Amino acid sequence: MARYLITGGAGFIGSHLVEALVARGDEVVVLDSLATGRLANLDAVRGSPLLTFTQGSVLDELAVDQAVRNCDVVVHLAAAVGVKLIVEEPLYSLTTNIKGAITVLEAAHRYRRKAMVASSSEIYGKNSDVPLDEQSDRVLGSPAVARWAYSTSKAVDEILAYAYHRERDLPTIVVRLFNTVGPRQSPAYGMVIPRLVRQALAGEPLTVYGDGSQTRCFCHVADVVRALVSLLDEPQAEGDVFNIGSSEEISIADLARLIIKRTGSVSEIVYTPYDVAYETGFEDMARRVPDTTKVHALTGWVATAGLTEILDDVAQEVRDATALA
Ligand code: UDP
Repeated sequence: MARYLITGGAGFIGSHLVEALVARGDEVVVLDSLATGRLANLDAVRGSPLLTFTQGSVLDELAVDQAVRNCDVVVHLAAAVGVKLIVEEPLYSLTTNIKGAITVLEAAHRYRRKAMVASSSEIYGKNSDVPLDEQSDRVLGSPAVARWAYSTSKAVDEILAYAYHRERDLPTIVVRLFNTVGPRQSPAYGMVIPRLVRQALAGEPLTVYGDGSQTRCFCHVADVVRALVSLLDEPQAEGDVFNIGSSEEISIADLARLIIKRTGSVSEIVYTPYDVAYETGFEDMARRVPDTTKVHALTGWVATAGLTEILDDVAQEVRDATALA
């Protein structure tokens, strides 16, 4: 049994990881500022003697120091999330991501703790090669564009993890998460599935940005958490980087049609230009398909949940919440 510190443990992915670790008997300390995380996300493990919750920011050096000192393994998930938030608050996003990672990794180094750092498929930028493997190039526009600045902040997090591993012999693991979806993902930060499913269930128009031909691969958070746990358990993952995602590719227009069908909705689809949805000069990725050969070769992991299962899970959560309201 180990004691894990999960930064961002009250967030969407974090709370699912907390549940998985507690379920197998590990102790978990959550450090979360509750800026975008929610205590309700931890309802299923509330009251467990294995869980300790601390409200605090990864920018608070003392809080991070204390939390890291009391744990064996650190999983750094706390970060600014969602394209919408990143575009609207670039300074907050950059500071949280870069300074947060520095603070967490410095503390991990101080106490010699293994650290997993969550990166993002955003680091590949506009590279639309299919599939993207861990060595694929980053293709970015101007740093004056908020999205590329965010992409760079996540790349800096990765570089820090690699540097601590190479120069300080710290066991670090970097995971590049592609589109991760499922229950508890908030619609507030722009993500497409929580938004479109709610729109469909409310009978409102589904807002597809651009012409809807852009594609994504959506991976169920339960699959992503299994990958994280497998990598945390695998000593050979240390010092390395792994893509995590599904390879089931769908255009956003087809996704909207599928959501309407699965939910039995009467909604229509409205197409909104990117500069209205986000900001003038906004650039989207045309495709983003992960090559997950590496994580599969090391741990045997594959994504198992298909898109219909994902959509049904999200729709069920929204229906349950509506019934309670
Ligand atoms: N998107 C959309 N309607 C929305 C929200 C997002 O069409 O209401 C599009 C967005 O422009 C992108 C895709 O859905 O092409 C996935 O967006 P998300 O923010 O979920 O993930 P990311 O852009 O980071 O892949």
